[in-house]
Amino acid sequence: MPDIESILRQMTLEEKAALCTGASPWSTVPVERLGVPPMFVADGPHGVRRVRDEFSLGVESLPATCFPTASSLASTWDVTLIKDLGQALGEECLELGVNVLLGPGANMKRTPVCGRNFEYFSEDPYLAGQMAANFIQGVQSQGVGTSLKHYAANNQEYQRMSINAVVDERTLREIYLPAFETAVKQGKPWTVMCAYNRLNGSFCSEHRELLVDILKDEWGFEGLVVSDWGAVHDRVASLQGGLDLEMPGPKAQRVKVVVESVQNGALDEALLDEAVRRILQIVFKAAGSPKGKKFDKSAHHALARKIAGEGMVLLKNNGILPLKGYQKIAVIGRTAKKAHFQGGGSSHINPTQVDVPFDELQKLAGEAVLVYAEGYPDDPSFQPALIEAAVEAAKSSEVALLYIGLPTFKESEGYDRADLVLTEQQVALIKAVTAVQPKTVVVLNNGSAVTMGTWLDGAAAVLEAWMMGQAGGGAIADVLFGKVNPSGKLSETFPLRLVDTPAYTNYPGEGGQVRYGEGIFIGYRYYDFKEVPVLFPFGYGLSYTTFKYSKPKVSAVVFKDVEGLTVSVDVTNTGQMAGKEIVQVYVHDQQARLMRPVKELKGFAKVALEAGQTKTVTIALDFRAFAYYHPAYQQWSTEDGEYDILIGASAADVRARLTVNLKSTLTLPCLLNRDSTIREWLEDPRGEAVLRPMMEMAMAQMSQAMGVGQEGGLDMGMEFMMDTPLLVILNFMEAMLPTPPEEIVATLLDQVKGKA
Ligand code: BGC
Repeated sequence: MPDIESILRQMTLEEKAALCTGASPWSTVPVERLGVPPMFVADGPHGVRRVRDEFSLGVESLPATCFPTASSLASTWDVTLIKDLGQALGEECLELGVNVLLGPGANMKRTPVCGRNFEYFSEDPYLAGQMAANFIQGVQSQGVGTSLKHYAANNQEYQRMSINAVVDERTLREIYLPAFETAVKQGKPWTVMCAYNRLNGSFCSEHRELLVDILKDEWGFEGLVVSDWGAVHDRVASLQGGLDLEMPGPKAQRVKVVVESVQNGALDEALLDEAVRRILQIVFKAAGSPKGKKFDKSAHHALARKIAGEGMVLLKNNGILPLKGYQKIAVIGRTAKKAHFQGGGSSHINPTQVDVPFDELQKLAGEAVLVYAEGYPDDPSFQPALIEAAVEAAKSSEVALLYIGLPTFKESEGYDRADLVLTEQQVALIKAVTAVQPKTVVVLNNGSAVTMGTWLDGAAAVLEAWMMGQAGGGAIADVLFGKVNPSGKLSETFPLRLVDTPAYTNYPGEGGQVRYGEGIFIGYRYYDFKEVPVLFPFGYGLSYTTFKYSKPKVSAVVFKDVEGLTVSVDVTNTGQMAGKEIVQVYVHDQQARLMRPVKELKGFAKVALEAGQTKTVTIALDFRAFAYYHPAYQQWSTEDGEYDILIGASAADVRARLTVNLKSTLTLPCLLNRDSTIREWLEDPRGEAVLRPMMEMAMAQMSQAMGVGQEGGLDMGMEFMMDTPLLVILNFMEAMLPTPPEEIVATLLDQVKGKA
């Protein structure tokens, strides 16, 4: 690594300003006289979209492996596999001359209608954080950087470039930031990409609190912050806000403005230097990437198939799966011949090869005859003839496999979904086929939850195959024929109806603003709390075998928050086939000062078990597993008390519950002030210590004055006073007091704050 400070000192103001904006849509500006090379970036996240012509935003990219998208990745719940994926992506970047891969996306699935949910991991910040961190570690192990995106609160495509997300601090800290926080702290991405939208009034590209105070200072992020493509509105404001690199470029006007602003004193040159320093560090890191590497296309295709299989979620099975002994199989749906394996937009990969689901089935079906019917068109038109032909095929076969891909006109980057249903023709097709063929398996390809209320009962089995990547066609065949035992579980809730979803009354916003009114209650946190029934819960997924949980244990019943806990449980494969189980640990706080979700995911593990085998699964819980973010203290806080550790097979299937007792080691700052209510005084241990004796005395005097034993009088009086400021009460009693009320409160405050 060359001496960055010395290079920085030698750079002219113009060179420094130029370095902070791209040289092309995909590269940074070289400074040849000082040996600063250009750096190349490419989308991301689930494949490398290396455009042929660096100077075009480009639709045409070099062939690369299209791996499954984030919904599928997260449904594997397999952090090792995600790391393997990252490594493979890193290898492809090296061959394709890419220094930084633009991904992963760590935004929360606030609403299932977000058109870009397929690129995001989960509705749960813990799961998403683990996925993102391991993805990053995998890619970066190859000497290639990542760009963690889109930071932050980019949770809808509707007005994505302008909408102002209004999010309270606790919700930000507990829901929308933790996946980024984990990814930054554990993954150490080379770059972080800011989001297009505004957050609480400021564009994320200018948001100093987000980019500097939280990301760089609090979380210790050492890399560079890059704008999403076109997210910068005011280059000077964005530099002041902590945005280091603007993309895409070139933009001569921007460079000019930065130079002039430094010259006329509007921009502190130290801020520009800080951006340049960060960019140089990453550019030189990138320059050290291994050269001349080649990736193994068939090995990566095989890895893509493995991941796709692990991510598929078996939602329903009346026993028809795995398929056995059928001689005539109807294969219905155009995506059986033309796989729907990725989403529209910037993540669109030019695959090295694509498995045709129909052909892959045939390979595993042996002698069985497969009969194909298209079923539905590739546009929104309604074509009854296609349904009729499909019904005939289904009737004349022993079993029907329905391949249903949610088309790009319903789901893509750039726009949100209008509803959660399949196309009209797809719904009619499923109903018509299941009406004549009860042995029908529905295979879905989509990026986020769909509703199934009108057709689910008719289907014998439903397999959620997601946007499964280029090898997904083979992975479907593997699962349908039992070559792979399904082991994926949902990383997002499937609701019964769109109206049931948490953000329903606060989406898409109006007047350019969307208020996150549901607060911390998104996903299962909402359905749990409101007791809203769902179609399939978070964490749910079936297997061809069964698992029994036994001997749940915790490392200590009474423990200190900073020490954390270890939870263990024995899991036994009680069926006939090898399989994998995903054990989930949720924490329930029995009593807290702030409202908390019924339970929150804080740990998980995926375990492979042969038939009959038992393994002990161990999961560690740390301080944060028990803490909530207290906006008044502006810090993560724990409270003394009882917490339940819930060990589950899904959010709705808790197999064991253990109660532990947490001892908080925190001494929180005292927030009492002259307006604090009696309740606030009593809730603070320091306040309680000084106030309670005083109150007891006063109450004794009052009850004497009112006549002891008056029915209800005192209790009611106490409750009545709880939410009244101490000062107001003292004011009422002024005539009886030896000193003025203000002075009494001031003395008490001095006492609790240790000044007296
Ligand atoms: C997307 C980013 C992407 C960038 C470059 C933007 O529109 O939001 O995710 O990395 O384009 O293609």
